[in-house]
Amino acid sequence: MAEPINVKCPSCDQILAAADETGLVNVLREHLFEEHALEMPPERIRENVAAQLQGFDGYKARPISGA
Ligand SMILES: [Zn+2]
Repeated sequence: MAEPINVKCPSCDQILAAADETGLVNVLREHLFEEHALEMPPERIRENVAAQLQGFDGYKARPISGA
């Protein structure tokens, strides 16, 4: 059974959890839209989620809201 995985919101550092990477992309996308009025392309969010999952303890992901 899969353990939930989580990522940090790049804008407010809130922890968002889901069962898998696809779920994380969805919750982060919804969170950004609802909490920060940011509409990000899914591939951009997937990239950020993947980066966070790879460098998990270091949180090396690029800021998602940067220009
Ligand atoms: Zn946030």
